[in-house]
Amino acid sequence: MGEFIDVKEIFGENVFNDSAMKARLPKKVYQELKKTMEEGKDLDPVTADVVAHEMKEWAIEKGATHYTHWFQPLTGSTAEKHDSFISAPMKDGKVLMNFSGKELIKGEPDASSFPSGGLRATFEARGYTAWDCTSPAFVRKDAAGATLCIPTAFCSYTGEALDQKTPLLRSMQAINTQSLRLLRIFGNTTSKKVTPSVGLEQEYFLIDKEKYLHRKDLVFTSRTLFGAMPPKGQEMDDHYFGVIRERIGAFMKDVNEELWKLGVSAKTQHNEAAPAQHELAPIYAEVNVAVDHNQIIMETLKRIANHHGLVCLLHEKPFAGVNGSGKHNNWSLTTDDGINLLDPGKTPHENMQFLLVLACVLKAVDIHADLLRESAADVGNDHRLGANEAPPAIISVYLGEQLHDVMNQLISTGSANHSIKGERLATGVKTLPDFAKDATDRNRTSPFAFTGNKFEFRMVGSKDSGGEPNTVLNTIVAEAFCEACDYIEAAEDKDMAIHDLIEKYFMEHERIVFDGNGYSEEWVEEAKRRGLPNLKTMVDAIPALTTEKAVALFEKFGVFTRAELESRAEIQYETYAKVINIEARSMIDIASKQLISAAIKYTKELADTVIAVKNCGVEASVQEEILKETSVLLAEARNALTDLIELDAKGAKLERGKEQAVFFNKEVVPAMEALRAPIDKLEMIVEKDMWPMPSYGDMIFEV
Ligand code: ADP
Ligand code: MG
Repeated sequence: MGEFIDVKEIFGENVFNDSAMKARLPKKVYQELKKTMEEGKDLDPVTADVVAHEMKEWAIEKGATHYTHWFQPLTGSTAEKHDSFISAPMKDGKVLMNFSGKELIKGEPDASSFPSGGLRATFEARGYTAWDCTSPAFVRKDAAGATLCIPTAFCSYTGEALDQKTPLLRSMQAINTQSLRLLRIFGNTTSKKVTPSVGLEQEYFLIDKEKYLHRKDLVFTSRTLFGAMPPKGQEMDDHYFGVIRERIGAFMKDVNEELWKLGVSAKTQHNEAAPAQHELAPIYAEVNVAVDHNQIIMETLKRIANHHGLVCLLHEKPFAGVNGSGKHNNWSLTTDDGINLLDPGKTPHENMQFLLVLACVLKAVDIHADLLRESAADVGNDHRLGANEAPPAIISVYLGEQLHDVMNQLISTGSANHSIKGERLATGVKTLPDFAKDATDRNRTSPFAFTGNKFEFRMVGSKDSGGEPNTVLNTIVAEAFCEACDYIEAAEDKDMAIHDLIEKYFMEHERIVFDGNGYSEEWVEEAKRRGLPNLKTMVDAIPALTTEKAVALFEKFGVFTRAELESRAEIQYETYAKVINIEARSMIDIASKQLISAAIKYTKELADTVIAVKNCGVEASVQEEILKETSVLLAEARNALTDLIELDAKGAKLERGKEQAVFFNKEVVPAMEALRAPIDKLEMIVEKDMWPMPSYGDMIFEV
């Protein structure tokens, strides 16, 4: 048995959190810093110096030797450059450990090798990281020792955002301002701040490291580019919520301990639908903290897996034909005094504030469905969205029976006079207590579902930052709130104006509401009739970023400039082409050097067998048939390989940007599929010992 963990004792021990600050900082400095955190006041240099000094002392006590500005560039992961605390040597050869307010607040990494989408030519390499004091600093311990990590935003010399965090923080300001306006209309004079609360559920796969190392496709691209389906998949549903195996349990225990020390409130863990798939969810937090914590979770999963001889795969679709991984983004709006704007209460039909918020969200999601879809666009996610296991690529909103009914009442009669109540759940067993059911069942097929007191956006890819989806959500809802407030504030009869708006929004945006089965073919047809966009791939989704509608939205709320949006679109096109190019080249490499040659060896063995059997005067028709079948597949594979080599080379020569991405999407991706098909068939024929890579069965059933 492992050691007992005292959660209360260790929780947050490696975080420079509120209690650490209170204990360490002089009272006045602490109050100044709190003001900055809560009201966005500028931090004066003297205060910053004191904070930096105390933070450094605290970190050194935890064993830290280095500090880093920890940021999220547009590469999809986090970046950091480590500096040690050591400063000029003293006379007697001893060193001083120094960390100034300036070093805390501002960093200057060489920005030239991070993607900027043309925002900054490489000769203007200056980029700055700036401390996000609303997300606490922490000490991370790993093989490199202990490092003080300072969450930061990353901008260019001219102030353009080069990261995920800057726009997210800007969008938080927008939603705060507009939410407060809305609350004031309903007579709330006491709440001072509204912040999006977000809980990100993280799905991942765990496989054995030895096997992983024998799969060059996983090593190079994080997903399998070949692989026949095992005889048993997930059809028995016996993995989902199944008992967690010992090896995995030991891994999860270590992950939890690490996360708790870092102040991440890891809460639930369970097996997911696919074999070898799991999920971890923390308790929700303020959105920028939640997004940072999600990055810490992803890094920790990978690091701890390594300690257990495992590899954690965060790719959206590591195995074809097996459920992929997503990151459910649970989103609500909370005031500083604890009110959740998305809480319907017991009788939502009477709760005008809630109904207006709901109607605004529907409007926002309907008008900007393309942007939301884009915010979840990722090369890996293309294998997932629209396949029958993840939400479709079409955005719709699930309201559930109770709210859908309130909406229908309003649309058909102009008023709503009742809310369907949750009934008692009768199990039919006397010794089990009856209890009240939720008023609404769950719908697992909706991309954007109301789940009691929050919305759950389920499209986000498992390895992606939560930054982009939440930036979009905050901004589109801010816009809807703003337009509603403009109208109501100008009206003479405010109650009437509120009522009219709710009814109007429900009527105009009813088409976005869908409570049925999102995986069905009929829904695709129905959505088309309703005029809802169906952006199937990442390449189809990227243009949403730079429409006039998007530019007007983001510029109005100061979240992105046109130039920033254009640069982001550029980066996405480049990323798409790069990823597919790497996948294609890996396929070419593996097919030529490993798989086709293995099949050739097998045909030689078969041919020898045929001759040997015939020499004994016995007929060898089975061997001959298999030999023929193998040869036909080999020829098919060889032709497909030649095509892929040619197309990939052509694509790689195109100028970077949209045209190149479209070429990779339309030409190279189908050529990759054409190569995979005969090779997966060969895997089913060639003797197992001769196949040079572990099979799907080896990887996902034997962890
Ligand atoms: P499930 O999706 O299985 O129903 P939960 O209800 O436990 O899971 O919630 C999933 C995630 O949503 C968790 O991270 C949880 O903390 C978060 N969550 C719960 N309530 C809210 C809320 N009001 N706003 C944002 N996130 C929330
Ligand atoms: Mg969920």
